[in-house]
Amino acid sequence: MTDMLHGTTSLVTGAGRGIGRAIARRLAAEGSRVAVHYGTNADAAAATVDEIRGAGGDAFAIGAELGVPGDVERLWAAFDEALGPGATLDVLVNNAAIGSSEPLATTTPEAFDRVFAVNVKAPFFLVQRGLDRIRDDGRIINVSSGVTRIALPETLAYSMTKGALNTFSFTLAHELGARGITVNAVAPGITDTDTNAAWLHGEARAHAASYSAFDRVGEPDDIADVVAFLASPAARWITGQVIDATGGSHLGAAGLR
Ligand code: NAP
Repeated sequence: MTDMLHGTTSLVTGAGRGIGRAIARRLAAEGSRVAVHYGTNADAAAATVDEIRGAGGDAFAIGAELGVPGDVERLWAAFDEALGPGATLDVLVNNAAIGSSEPLATTTPEAFDRVFAVNVKAPFFLVQRGLDRIRDDGRIINVSSGVTRIALPETLAYSMTKGALNTFSFTLAHELGARGITVNAVAPGITDTDTNAAWLHGEARAHAASYSAFDRVGEPDDIADVVAFLASPAARWITGQVIDATGGSHLGAAGLR
């Protein structure tokens, strides 16, 4: 802990579990007051808040299901309720997302709309409706995915949502540079969270690990450290970038790591 985010406020969406929880913990450890957002799992968010407070940090939970009408308004209303009307924000991390494990042939229009609503529309309008709260020199960090670089046909619609987030980051960075706000995306590879819990064992885990130059799957803290760096003053000159955090996945030719 370096206290490099002392005096700041952060909001991490989907911070009750997985990568979001690790990001919330890490930003709090750097001295930021963290809004721990959750969709449906209030207990998980409360556990994240307890953990942060137990370690001497400052955090509070706010709930709002994303991808449904009125989602962003409810989220900002909960943020205001916790901190007072017009509260400002230094770091916004758009982490909450859902997966979709269907290829082109079997993806339904409903599933397509749903994954775009949660993964793209919600972050887009969260930023739009939150922009006047984000302080100059602030940070917007969007959690993308390595599948924007590594073709995975069985998650096509999901991969496309993350491609949209990359474009969002790059284009928004151009617009917000005048205010000193940086906008970047972080692209994890296969990471040990609930999303992968059903299959990330035994041989499948060893195979997944083999994608990385380091021969292991990612841990949520691997991603949180990258996000914390981007949130820090040290990253003030980095904007509009997609930071690959896949542990060097698929760097080699077929059959090589
Ligand atoms: P996870 O364990 O499945 O957790 C997802 C989080 O997002 C939960 O906190 C969940 O809240 C929230 N969330 C999901 N749908 C929501 C909705 N409709 N409204 C509000 N909140 C919602 O996910 P993860 O594996 O940590 O992934 C975090 C991010 O990393 C995602 O953007 C994901 O696409 C990206 N990523 C993950 C991997 C990986 O291998 N794990 C790889 C590349 C990229 P509740 O708990 O309240 O439901």
